[in-house]
Amino acid sequence: MLPVLVFILFIQQFQKPALPNCRTEKAMEALGLLDVQAIHPGIKVSLAYSEKENFIGFDVYGCVSRAFLQREAAMKLAQAQRALEKELPGYSLLIWDAARPRSAQKILWDSIKKPEKVKHVYVANPNRGSIHNYGCAVDLTIADPKGKAIDMGTGFDYFGELAQPRLEARLLKTGRLSATQITNRKRLRSIMQKAGFMPISSEWWHFNFCSLARAKSKYKPVP
Ligand SMILES: [Zn+2]
Repeated sequence: MLPVLVFILFIQQFQKPALPNCRTEKAMEALGLLDVQAIHPGIKVSLAYSEKENFIGFDVYGCVSRAFLQREAAMKLAQAQRALEKELPGYSLLIWDAARPRSAQKILWDSIKKPEKVKHVYVANPNRGSIHNYGCAVDLTIADPKGKAIDMGTGFDYFGELAQPRLEARLLKTGRLSATQITNRKRLRSIMQKAGFMPISSEWWHFNFCSLARAKSKYKPVP
């Protein structure tokens, strides 16, 4: 009985209940997107844009508190979680963002305080669309057995060189990233890539399940 109770408490700690009248979550379900935690309850979810502690400083998502992905991507993410559990018992994936409504994309774009020509490095232009809008991209890290994000050198949405995988060799050489931070990033990338996700060169936390062109051809965006 005790292990069951502990398991239930564990799940409750990380799975926010869906609000019964959340229109955006309902829209995601209607588009066929799946709640990742319903596929694998061991994955932790703490949506950065559903809280005030993000780079904008206010809650962009409102009632959206669950991480949704396209069915195929959600299944592959569960595969990544199982691989992580095998490699590091007690550790789990921790999602900061998954399917993102198009309306939120515009708010994020307008909030980036960077010159117009480099903004796209940090957030996709809402006119072009983001792979997140189609439920085919996920932002995540690894959490230790206490639920704390492990050291990756920066937090989520760090808008600077330290976040960029393409610069990691130089950042290690110059001591701006430690060997442990690089090892942690490589572990996340390896697990995600083996499950079928693709890393990008500008953000260590972002992974695509398919290209934007493929997402657009197969799926509808979350409004
Ligand atoms: Zn992302």
